[in-house]
Amino acid sequence: MPDPVVTRFAPSPTGFLHIGGARTALFNWLYARGRGGKFLLRIEDTDRERSTPEATEAILQGMAWLGLDHDGDVISQFARADRHAEVAHQLLADGKAYKCFSTQEEIAAFRESAKADGKSTLFCSPWRDADPATYPDAPYVIRIKAPQDGVTVIRDQVQGDVTIRNDQLDDMILLRSDGTPVYMLAVVVDDHDMAVTHVIRGDDHLNNAARQMMIYDAMGWSVPVWAHIPLIHGPDGKKLSKRHGALGAQEYQAMGYPASGMRNYLARLGWSHGDDEFFTDEQARNWFDLDGIGKSPARFDFKKLENLCGQHIAIMDDAALRHEIEAYLTAAGEPALTSEKADDLQAAMYCLKDRAKMFPELIEKAHFVLTDRPIELDQKAEKALRSVSDGILSELTPQLQNASWSREELEAVLNAFAAERDTKFGKLAGPLRAALAGRAVTPSVFDMMLVLGREESLARLNDAAEIVRSFTDT
Ligand code: GLU
Repeated sequence: MPDPVVTRFAPSPTGFLHIGGARTALFNWLYARGRGGKFLLRIEDTDRERSTPEATEAILQGMAWLGLDHDGDVISQFARADRHAEVAHQLLADGKAYKCFSTQEEIAAFRESAKADGKSTLFCSPWRDADPATYPDAPYVIRIKAPQDGVTVIRDQVQGDVTIRNDQLDDMILLRSDGTPVYMLAVVVDDHDMAVTHVIRGDDHLNNAARQMMIYDAMGWSVPVWAHIPLIHGPDGKKLSKRHGALGAQEYQAMGYPASGMRNYLARLGWSHGDDEFFTDEQARNWFDLDGIGKSPARFDFKKLENLCGQHIAIMDDAALRHEIEAYLTAAGEPALTSEKADDLQAAMYCLKDRAKMFPELIEKAHFVLTDRPIELDQKAEKALRSVSDGILSELTPQLQNASWSREELEAVLNAFAAERDTKFGKLAGPLRAALAGRAVTPSVFDMMLVLGREESLARLNDAAEIVRSFTDT
């Protein structure tokens, strides 16, 4: 039986979870979740100057928003420094690494003379094969013995075979003179100890893979499957800028994109399954494969993101939508809904979610249910009310008074009312929208009446009748 799939996301906590990192996390999550595997989270916090707890928190929150749950505890790379050092010492004991006593000045002098001679400036330490009896009592680093000839081939699932000549690789430092491990060692030891089978990450790490393979080989560990994914570019093909979407995951939440739409869009950024643009989480988990990852950089496109988000909002469960909108309001720094209003919003959801691409748009449409009497009229609504003749609304209310509050009957009453006045219902719709919502763009008049109920609808119509009267009075 093949090993169970284990993937990981290994962000450095030096800033928020940016969109590229979120996509890397998503790809790893999809790959593991679609195969009954594990998805692990390792915080690469070895750079003590640049790593902050706030950044770790932002990464965790961004992942939580995107629903990218990880297995087991969050692993801190820094906390594992002793284990990294242990591996360096093991390589030393096995003769795969050596103590190097060269000073910074000696290394600089080596480089200068190599440059003058037109030779490679990669440092060749005189200590590589030195007799330990000659070791001075001085600080040293531990360097790996890199292979000196031949080639290293990275069998990458996205980039294909990438061949690097070994004479381009130097005897990389594993342990600094203060005993701290270097990042490259930490990554390999952690991936090995965490039993990571697949490393899916940005192709800015492709060069590291060759150096990391040296450590795997020296330790006799099996190399994971590599998949280095092209970075995300802006719509103009240039490096992603803030204006073009290089924002933190939480900023997307605060702008009002639903997480499911974001997941769908991020999955499509650099990966494809035939011509499918819109898909559910389940489909993404079933379909996601390394074969579908493209070789060229994906371009970020807000329009496509919005389109997909609209489609996801439309199929979301009403209760789930309500909870996500409540979380969105908090993320956006907007006042929270009372539980009564949130209930009303949920009840109205069926007539709101069809055409809203993002939450602000949905909330705008929900205005009729979130607002209270007296309804404030916007300019268009006021104009619509000014267009009706005096009395029309007050004639309508008694007829509605006795209607059973069903869609069929409301339609019948309003159509008959319009016909009696030799007009079409469409002519009445504007003023009715204005009366019920104070706005011109709303769900249908019938949906609003059904959601608001008889009492509230009639009260709003009466209020509007009053306003119309005041127009004619003045
Ligand atoms: N910490 C690295 C980064 O944030 C990722 C390293 C890796 O995935 O191997 O870019």
